[in-house]
Amino acid sequence: MNATPGAAFEGVLPSRLSPAERDQIERRVQQIGRELLNQSLAAEPTAVSPEWWAQQAGAWATHDDELKVRLFRLVDCMPMLEDPEALDRHLREYIDDDVIARLPPSLRWAVQTARSGLLAPLASRAIRAAVLAQARRFIAGSNPAEAARAALAQRRRHRGFTLDLLGEAVTSDSEADAYADAYTRLLTELPRLAAAWPADPLVDDGPDGSMPRVNVSIKLSALDSQFDAIDPRGTTDRVLSRLRPLWRLARAHAAQVHIDMESHATKDLTLAIFRQIAMEDEFRDWPHCGVVVQCYLRESLRDLESLAAWARDRGTPVWVRLVKGAYWDFETVHAEAAGWPVPVWQQKWQTDACYEAATTFVMEHATTLRPALGSHNLRSLAHGMAVAEHLGIDRRGIEMQMLHGMGDPEKEAVTAAGWRLRIYMPYGELVPGMAYLVRRLLENSSNDSFLRAGFVKHVPPATLLAAPGPATTDAAAMDGAAIPVGPLAASGFRNEPLADFSVDASWRCMQEAVDRLAARFAAGPVAVASVIDGQRLESGETFPRHDPSDHHRVIANVAAATPADALHAVKVARQALPAWKEIGWERRADILEKTAGIMRRRRFELAAIEVFEVGKPWREADADVAEAIDFCGYYAHEARRLARPAQVDVPGEENTTEWLPRGVAVVIAPWNFPLAILTGMTTAALVTGNTVVMKPAEQSSLIARELHEMLLEAGVPPAVLAFLPGRGEEVGPPLVAHPDTAVVAFTGSRAVGVAIHAEAAAASAAAGSRRVKRVIAEMGGKNAIIVDDDADLDEAVVAVVQSAFGFQGQKCSACSRVIVLDRVHDAFVRRLAAAVKSLRVGPAAEPGTRVGPLVDAEARDRVQSFIEIGRQTAREVAAVDVGMLAGRGWFVGPHLFADVDPKGPLGQEEIFGPVLAVFRAHDFRQAIELANGTPYALTAGVFSRSPSHLREAATVLQAGNVYLNRGITGAVVQRQPFGGYRMSGSGNKAGGPEYLQQFLVARTVTENTLRRGFAPQRRAE
Ligand SMILES: Cc1cc2nc3c(=O)[nH]c(=O)nc-3n(C[C@H](O)[C@H](O)[C@H](O)COP(=O)(O)OP(=O)(O)OC[C@H]3O[C@@H](n4cnc5c(N)ncnc54)[C@H](O)[C@@H]3O)c2cc1C
Repeated sequence: MNATPGAAFEGVLPSRLSPAERDQIERRVQQIGRELLNQSLAAEPTAVSPEWWAQQAGAWATHDDELKVRLFRLVDCMPMLEDPEALDRHLREYIDDDVIARLPPSLRWAVQTARSGLLAPLASRAIRAAVLAQARRFIAGSNPAEAARAALAQRRRHRGFTLDLLGEAVTSDSEADAYADAYTRLLTELPRLAAAWPADPLVDDGPDGSMPRVNVSIKLSALDSQFDAIDPRGTTDRVLSRLRPLWRLARAHAAQVHIDMESHATKDLTLAIFRQIAMEDEFRDWPHCGVVVQCYLRESLRDLESLAAWARDRGTPVWVRLVKGAYWDFETVHAEAAGWPVPVWQQKWQTDACYEAATTFVMEHATTLRPALGSHNLRSLAHGMAVAEHLGIDRRGIEMQMLHGMGDPEKEAVTAAGWRLRIYMPYGELVPGMAYLVRRLLENSSNDSFLRAGFVKHVPPATLLAAPGPATTDAAAMDGAAIPVGPLAASGFRNEPLADFSVDASWRCMQEAVDRLAARFAAGPVAVASVIDGQRLESGETFPRHDPSDHHRVIANVAAATPADALHAVKVARQALPAWKEIGWERRADILEKTAGIMRRRRFELAAIEVFEVGKPWREADADVAEAIDFCGYYAHEARRLARPAQVDVPGEENTTEWLPRGVAVVIAPWNFPLAILTGMTTAALVTGNTVVMKPAEQSSLIARELHEMLLEAGVPPAVLAFLPGRGEEVGPPLVAHPDTAVVAFTGSRAVGVAIHAEAAAASAAAGSRRVKRVIAEMGGKNAIIVDDDADLDEAVVAVVQSAFGFQGQKCSACSRVIVLDRVHDAFVRRLAAAVKSLRVGPAAEPGTRVGPLVDAEARDRVQSFIEIGRQTAREVAAVDVGMLAGRGWFVGPHLFADVDPKGPLGQEEIFGPVLAVFRAHDFRQAIELANGTPYALTAGVFSRSPSHLREAATVLQAGNVYLNRGITGAVVQRQPFGGYRMSGSGNKAGGPEYLQQFLVARTVTENTLRRGFAPQRRAE
């Protein structure tokens, strides 16, 4: 790799600078950097400054990941621990003897005292107060008046400011309104106060006259609870409806507005919204607006180039704040877990070099992009200053920016050098303040942090100020954090990544697939019929399948299979058994992998079919297709494992155990995961050598037909796989009872699952029966999430909403009960109710739809009857009216009921719809009892920050899948094998290592190899 400054990025952006000029600039960077550094080091932070504490926390934690995690997690939940008992418990749980031993001596004593002895309560409270005080030091007050005072204090030190309101995650329209209202107040009141402040040329003089004295920074995600790149149009409209009045106010009151940048998933949409509003007639000639570009993003230079072209076109400059980016860990972990390309540079020097390339570019376009350099890295800032000097840019048109509560000596050095410095000042309540504090602690404790390298580790100036490049990285101090290979990469099987709809190409592919299909259906319904041995049969009655979002549209006419077809299908399947077994494991695994490939190729088309056939919103439909691909890949992988006979030999004896197919398998599948579950059960049966009669749900025959065709295309012989769409009650019983059926794999309701068990048992017991049928039944759930009284309510609200209302609650894993601890019950229910009311209900084909229709009229009526029961027996706290949609499709809005009787229908029965019941628990023990108080045991979850409660939940929650601090739906093949027990199911977990064995019988052959005292040598392993 090239070690020249920024060499990796040369040529990415056009620059007028020649190599000689770059050398000249580099010499100047060193001079400026030394001056800034010397001055900063002369005023090292003292023990009373917040950064000293942050640096110490960083120093303690940097080389001890476990300690870091514990400390940061404890810090994070401190504001919730108002109750002394809870505070003591958390201190004891997070800081055990092992952790104490690793603490620096100064802290060890305080913590030991807090954990035991007479002074314990006092010491615990002192520790909490100290942590909260630290958080407060990073924020500039909890209300506008305090923030204004802090801002004025900055001005007295010749610094500007930008105020940022810290808020809880915005989960409802009312919270988005409150956020906008807070800015309205700020932009109304602060400019009046600011007008009376004495002038300060360093701060006030701008490139074309005076700079606004008041400057605010806004996060767009806080202006819309449904902010989502999957719905660019809806999100833009809703954000602009709140942002436009703020821009008007700012313009009228001579303030400046800056748009912050958040996660990569929202970046393109944030930039698009910024451009749209800045281009509107009333703002097009307004220069006092700006946006952030994060240089840790690989795309940042491309974004800057297009921003420059756009700004030229606009004709009025905008400010661009260059930062490196605050969410590096999140972006890396999130992308790796999702299997997406990691959007951020993976080496620190790359981010630094990218920052410098971006700085040069912005400086060279300073008449259209006003440069604001947000960094605490003196090398990065010195580079910006040197480039500005070299290009002769008016200093009034540039500014340096730093964070409140960090790098105070550096701030002095920058203003002393005559540069305008603006301080980014978050203000607000402590709960969101803790998240901000943790972000700062994370930054300060990173090995890659400039502040830490310079002010804690005292890395030599030459290293600190060296031009970014791999050769300059001091491995000891700023070790280039190459990302370790995660467990996903190490395993033989990889999950199919979900589509990232914030990527334009994915979004367009899906939209085109939806449009194409809508046009196809407009030409008339698709005809679906049974196929046995490759022959299409249309013997039974035909029934129409309607689009649940628009029941006037018939998308398919399904010729139902008859009982006679069922008997014929089993006969053909039985005859096909020997040849299918004979072709062997490897070839069958191969066919599954080919099927996965076909699905991958047709991925958006398949998802679009689900959108129209069962009303799955985009993301849910895409996830179902991805899971189907996973089942093919994973079961192929597992089949190869089982293909190898197990050998256990001793001298004189050889034992070989091999797996054999059971025979004809009947697969009876549901409509709610219409491709994934059908694929999972069918491919498991096929790859293990069984032949299959596939009976899909009548609501999802079309997507099932596609699966049948894909499997045949991949190489499954026609006689091996029969396709029997139709009514379950007609073809199900003859298939289950047939003497030649060896396995029944079923997923669906508890009533049908139990009935199948009984029918299969009766058939097995019948005279002349030659086998006991194997029944694999995945049934329902009445799943609960517990919200503990120290839980992160932001996360809990979002996860409960997604788990309860994703695909309209029509998942066996869906959350239908939420059990909330007394102390947070009312606050949580208030926020949850507001979030539920903000969910957008609409046709599944529209990308902004969060809640689509129910699958059919019967489902709608059933859910409505539960809502009626709720109204009579509980307190309705949220009810979304679907309005005109009710006349168009099978829509039922989300409903939330509180004060529900745990023993009543809402507490016990599976509703399979968007109805959520809330229960109050006095303590954690009671919450667990409530959660376990139904006959089901499928999924369960808990939100808590108490390690002992999490441990307890993991041990005693009765569910096949227990989730801690996350939603309870969306199990991923291999990572979360899925399935329950008690009345939730009788099979081994789908997508897990024991699933395939259910379709097999094990056969062991033992040979005595001893002949007259002579035995062959044991085989080498
Ligand atoms: C005024 C101001 C406004 C801000 N606004 C925003 C905003 O809107 N959005 C936002 O995201 N951030 C924002 N930030 C936060 C900012 O992103 C971080 O404070 C900044 O990244 C720290 O960088 P630095 O140059 O000060 O320090 P340095 O120590 O030089 O850089 C640290 C940064 O390098 C990057 N990094 C760390 N490890 C690696 C690695 N292994 N590979 C590649 N890169 C790595 C990360 O971005 C990390 O934050 C703002 C900061 C300021 C000062």
